[in-house]
Amino acid sequence: MNILRILLVFVTFQLQAQNSIPQNYFSKPLDIPLILSGSFGELRNNHFHSGLDIKTQQRSGIPIYAPADGYVSRVKVGHYGFGKALYIKHPNGYTTVYAHLQKFQGAIQHYVKDNQYKKESYEIELFPEASLLTVKKGDIIGYTGNSGSSGGPHLHYEIRDGASRPMNPMLFGVDILDTKNPIINSVYAYPMSDDATVNKSKAPVKLRLIKQKDGTYKTEKISAYGKIGFGVSTNDQQNGASNKNGVYSIKTSNNGKRKIDIVFEKFSFDETRYLNRYIDYKNFKTNKSRVQKLFRETNNPLSIIKQDDDRGLITVLDGYASNFSISIKDYKGNLTYISIPVQGKKDTITSSKKLNQALEYVPSATASRISKGNFKVYVPKNALYEGAYLDIKTSGDTLHFHQDNVPVHKNISISMDITNYKGLDKNKLYIGRLNYTKIPYYTTTRRENNTLTARTRTMGSYVLAMDTVSPTIKAHNFTDGKWNSKTNTLKIKIKDTHSGISKYRATINGIFILMEYNYKKDVITYTFTDEIATETQNNLRLIVTDNVGNSTTFEAIFFRKKL
Ligand SMILES: [Zn+2]
Repeated sequence: MNILRILLVFVTFQLQAQNSIPQNYFSKPLDIPLILSGSFGELRNNHFHSGLDIKTQQRSGIPIYAPADGYVSRVKVGHYGFGKALYIKHPNGYTTVYAHLQKFQGAIQHYVKDNQYKKESYEIELFPEASLLTVKKGDIIGYTGNSGSSGGPHLHYEIRDGASRPMNPMLFGVDILDTKNPIINSVYAYPMSDDATVNKSKAPVKLRLIKQKDGTYKTEKISAYGKIGFGVSTNDQQNGASNKNGVYSIKTSNNGKRKIDIVFEKFSFDETRYLNRYIDYKNFKTNKSRVQKLFRETNNPLSIIKQDDDRGLITVLDGYASNFSISIKDYKGNLTYISIPVQGKKDTITSSKKLNQALEYVPSATASRISKGNFKVYVPKNALYEGAYLDIKTSGDTLHFHQDNVPVHKNISISMDITNYKGLDKNKLYIGRLNYTKIPYYTTTRRENNTLTARTRTMGSYVLAMDTVSPTIKAHNFTDGKWNSKTNTLKIKIKDTHSGISKYRATINGIFILMEYNYKKDVITYTFTDEIATETQNNLRLIVTDNVGNSTTFEAIFFRKKL
């Protein structure tokens, strides 16, 4: 027994040594106090947040310093997502990532721009060779911004391991002041087995929380039977920030026996969408609150779940009594503790929920092909996390494919036969999703003969839509036929209200110019410092095309002092 224990200690030590994370190898990427607007593992739409969002004092243009020696291994510039993103690979095998930048620095910026001009495209992704763009610890590599799908100026900062898995940067010694305990928004009990009940209900039950004098929480005593799981909606606040971030760990136990450990240390990108399996998706769609289910269901391979006993569920029999506890910690170890008294009591409930005959059962383990009216829907295997009864019907050119309260993991295809479509402009048709706006939301649509096919991971209503309206283009900071010497940019408003903008191409005197599209402001910008030789009189030409191929050509003349 003793030898075994020594061996165990030794093995544990070995594992820790192997996994040892370098401390303070990476210095701070910004020379400002680090306050977070987002933490690692935080629950977001369809993904876990893969890094830290560092606040940048509500402004852009703050220099980013290489936190260690390395080289630029990847640069990606896109209209959406990370916007302008930079990846630096370090000799210790880790890669640091910087996103939503305003611009890159020096040689990196030149390299990117050269390639954008070569490709004649703002959107670009490059993987420079190791020797091309080396950086030394402390070098400025870029400036913070708000590019891509960013809701305000900040730096998205990541540290990825050798297998490209994002890791919690706090594990590397990033220090954030935090003395506040995690906040509890709600606690739920879930009856999981067929015979399970909680407080005479077969549906999830929200539990009343009672704050104790010592700062811990207790819920009302529940009367339960069968396999029961629990869920919690929780956030963490850090000092000096009013926003709510994610927590670091959630651990549960029943009468002192460990049930499940969830730790936000690292994950891989191919598992991040399983967030929709992990949270109570229906509850999220109804209440906008993300309840984390503290048990592992089928089709949930998440590696953030470290240890589980009977998938985190408890089995409650008649007369059984237990105390279930949830311990939630932030990275600094501030603890919020919830205790849930459980009393076993068998309640037979005559199910009030009668199965709606109109619903269609769509399995998870096999693919399904569903035909309805002019529509055909293909649901691949494992597109759903579990089989579900779905409300699928058509009315004319609209397909009601249930509603967005059932999560979809893989793309489903929605095809529509337009053979009998009587209108003239068959080329201008697309499949759009009906949302709160009047205009159907464009869903990438492919047309093959008389079949339109859209792929989506959102259930809801889809409709045959048409876009015959070309994009609008309007000069923003100059006037056609006038001098424009005072500013160093050309700004143009571009907009397409129906299918949306797909591409744009601009030239001055016939030569391609790089324009940066900010979809949040409907503006594209050219910066004269690109040194495209301008004449005194210049002819600007811009073509903007929408997603179904309508295009608008804009031409203007402006005068400028010759470069
Ligand atoms: Zn972020």
